[in-house]
Formats: sequence, structure tokens, C-alpha cells
Amino acid sequence: MAFEDRPLLSPTDMQFDLVSAIQEDISRSLVSWSPQHVYGHLDKTLLLEEMTWWEQKNLEVNGLAVEFCRELKANHQLIAPNPCLWGRWREKQVVSPEAKAAIAWDTLGRAMRSLPTGLKSWITKHWVGMCGTGKFKVLWGLEKTAACPHCGSFEDHLHVLQCCAVSATQEWERRVSALSTWMDMRLTDHSIKKAILMLLGGVCDPTLPSTQAISPVVQLASWHNRLSVTKASWKLSQELIALGFYMREQRNSAQHSDDNVQLRERHRTANEGIHSQFDMGPDDLP
Ligand SMILES: [Zn+2]
Repeated sequence: MAFEDRPLLSPTDMQFDLVSAIQEDISRSLVSWSPQHVYGHLDKTLLLEEMTWWEQKNLEVNGLAVEFCRELKANHQLIAPNPCLWGRWREKQVVSPEAKAAIAWDTLGRAMRSLPTGLKSWITKHWVGMCGTGKFKVLWGLEKTAACPHCGSFEDHLHVLQCCAVSATQEWERRVSALSTWMDMRLTDHSIKKAILMLLGGVCDPTLPSTQAISPVVQLASWHNRLSVTKASWKLSQELIALGFYMREQRNSAQHSDDNVQLRERHRTANEGIHSQFDMGPDDLP
């Protein structure tokens, strides 16, 4: 599959991470590759000496893969075992070693699998802070300023949840209230509900306790695990992810409205130009 000449690999394809990693290695390789299909599990029907060299090598590599998989399972590293990825997350403070140990990876995995594709993409980008906010739009050359469309402050992924503009805080309060009702309807334990709402308060206002310089979603996942929520905990994970997504949607609606700070600045500059031309009077006109 990795050798197939397909222009675009979809994240929904089987073994997407593995296949895309192999394709990347092939594209960087200076060697010319000639793929050859080999049937698997031939050792069930053939003796080793009856196999071709290719079939023997396939059997050998498969055995090494199974052995490596067992090793990862034994060390609880089967999920996201890539050491480079962990190193990167640690360096960028996406996931601290403490959070890594505390996060309910299985619960998050269950939640992720049943999310709509758009939400999956969004949370993956939000997780590392690399998403379409002012900070990255400037880095990508799409905007000249990283100003928040609501309030004009520097905007990164955390600011979307922490923006002090009236429309943003109203939306936040509305979403948190909806989440509180959602937890009541599912008879969530009072102490768990209180802890989650306290954490959300800390996410929105970094001066409050319980906030660290890591992604709010990571914090939520961490608390989630420590509190050992019910078997419907993955649904709570989805609600928390959706809360962040709705704040992002609200931010985007401001970006494309007349309430946009950058748009207001452009209007002001254009109005000043018109007024200065008007003040010059008609004398110089042909
Ligand atoms: Zn703002």
C-alpha cells in the first residue's frame, strides 16, 4: 500500500500513520524501490526452505514486528510510542511527563474514534496549538498581525478560550452552563462536576488555580483520568472537546463579521483617507 501511486492518502485510510511514514521515507530515499507483493502467514502452510527469499524475509520482519509490539504493550507504550513525538510534545510543553502518565489515553481514544472527521482534525491541531489563529496565520503569511478578531490582543490557541471580549465571554459562559446541565442530566457525581467546572474556570482565567502552561484539553483529560469517571467518560471527553470547538467557531464568526478588530482598523484607515481627500477641496481637480 505504501508503494501505491496514490496522490493523496486520507487519514481515514487503514494504517494511515504507518503508510504515510513509509511513503515519506521512500520520497526521501536515494534508492530506487521495486515493490513486490508477498503473501503473509505462509509459515502455516509451507516449511521455511519451501519459501522464496522474499517470503522468508517477510516472515522474519513480521516476527520482529510482533516482538516489538509485545515490548510496547509490556511497557504501556503501545499508544503513540514515537519517541520523537513525545520529545517534541515535552519540548513544546504540549504534554508534560506528569500529564502523560495521568491522561486517560484509552478514554480519549474511544472519544476520538466516534467524533466527526472535522472535530477530529480540529482537536488534533488544537492539541499542539498549531491551528488557524492569529499566531500561525502570521507564520503562514496569511495575516500581517496576530490580533484576536474579538479584542485585538495577541491570539494563540489558548487565547480563543481566554478572550475577554464580551461576546467571547458570553459564549464561554453559555457553553459551560450547557456542559453543567449535561452533567446533571447524566447524574454526574457532584465532586467530579465541581472539579471539572473549577478546571474550566482555570482554563478561561489563568490567574485562577489549577491552570498550567499546557493545552487545556490535556489538563481536562488529566483530571478526567484522576477522577475515574463513569464508563460514559468518553462522552464527557467529547463534550469537553466540543466546548473548545464551539469557542473556535464563535471566534471564526467574529473573524468574518463587521465586529472584527482588523476590519474595524481597515475601515478607520479608509475613512481617514477619504476625509483627508475631501478636506483638500475641489481646487486641484481637473
Ligand atoms: Zn480576544
